[in-house]
Amino acid sequence: MRSILLNPGPVSLSEKVRKAAVSTDLCHREPEFSALQDRLRTGLIDVYRLHPLQWTAVLLGGSGTMAMEAMLCSLLPRDARLLVLENGVYGERISAIAEIHGIEYQSVAHQWTDAIDFDRVSKLLANGEFSHLAAVQHETTTGRLNDISRLVGLCEEHGIKLLLDSVSSFGAEAIPFDSPALLACAATANKCLHGIPGLCFVVSRPEAIDTAVEPPRSLYLHLPVWAKQQDRGSTPFTPPVNGLLALDQALVELKEQGGWRARHARYHRLADRVERALDRCGVEAMLEPGESSCVLRSYRLPRERAYQDIHDGLKQRGFVIYAGQGSLAAEMFRISTMGDITDYDMERLLAALAAVFG
Ligand SMILES: *Cc1c(COP(=O)(O)O)cnc(C)c1O
Repeated sequence: MRSILLNPGPVSLSEKVRKAAVSTDLCHREPEFSALQDRLRTGLIDVYRLHPLQWTAVLLGGSGTMAMEAMLCSLLPRDARLLVLENGVYGERISAIAEIHGIEYQSVAHQWTDAIDFDRVSKLLANGEFSHLAAVQHETTTGRLNDISRLVGLCEEHGIKLLLDSVSSFGAEAIPFDSPALLACAATANKCLHGIPGLCFVVSRPEAIDTAVEPPRSLYLHLPVWAKQQDRGSTPFTPPVNGLLALDQALVELKEQGGWRARHARYHRLADRVERALDRCGVEAMLEPGESSCVLRSYRLPRERAYQDIHDGLKQRGFVIYAGQGSLAAEMFRISTMGDITDYDMERLLAALAAVFG
């Protein structure tokens, strides 16, 4: 039986994407690789129909965190004063990256289950101390979709540049690329785009890369090194060739399926069906209606039910769910509806949920 992944990446692959990953052996110094790389960089910009002179996609070999770290440590100048919004693991990871690279920052900490306190953020941004803001769009810790359009509004008002972690939202949620405040966002192949792990990318304004920090804070993570070579059809290091092959096919499928808006709508429908099925079993959603992304929802563990039993019961039936992180592990679990999940898979999932929770 095919195992369906309901964790927030890596996702269940389509048969064609899985085959594409190992379809051929490709040397990264050959013109075939160059053509593939060019096609992908264009394809990523095309997901949101961005103008190729206003935005560029830089491919990197690594997981989503690498894209975050490369974006932050390359695009923040030495004299940057960074404000970081934290309402979960990934916001806190931004601060950890800033700390490691000696980037001056202040964080606005929230409880992991809380929405961004815009009054607090607005006051901080208004005091003129900050040049950049870094935030997570979809905080995968709880499934909360932070209100990025409101955030870019504040950034525009105060002349602040935004660096966005859109690792678990790129390809399925609206991203405000038309805002002059948005400088770059970090994302990955193996979440909403349905590719394989090992390939991530930063979508950036080209001028942000042209004015990246010098001297670099890192050899491997310095975006201009990757960008300049990719602009010449080359690559500075051995790239995750199989990841590129898989994403190439995954982007074809995204287009065939109607693009990011159709994917957004489908994820939403699937998540709603899961939520209704759990509600019938008395399992409550953690967040209020409308607060979650389309990608993932978190649920309260029912009293006297151990996560491991629930996990194992569902796994026996062919579904892998995801535990809560850190201190939330005892309280909640998560179900993502990303990936190549068919209607038949959904029928089986609803039956499995009823069996395990009913
Ligand atoms: C998955 C994810 C990341 C990156 O995690 P990796 O394990 O490095 O791929 C970063 N931010 C968010 C919001 C994520 O969901």
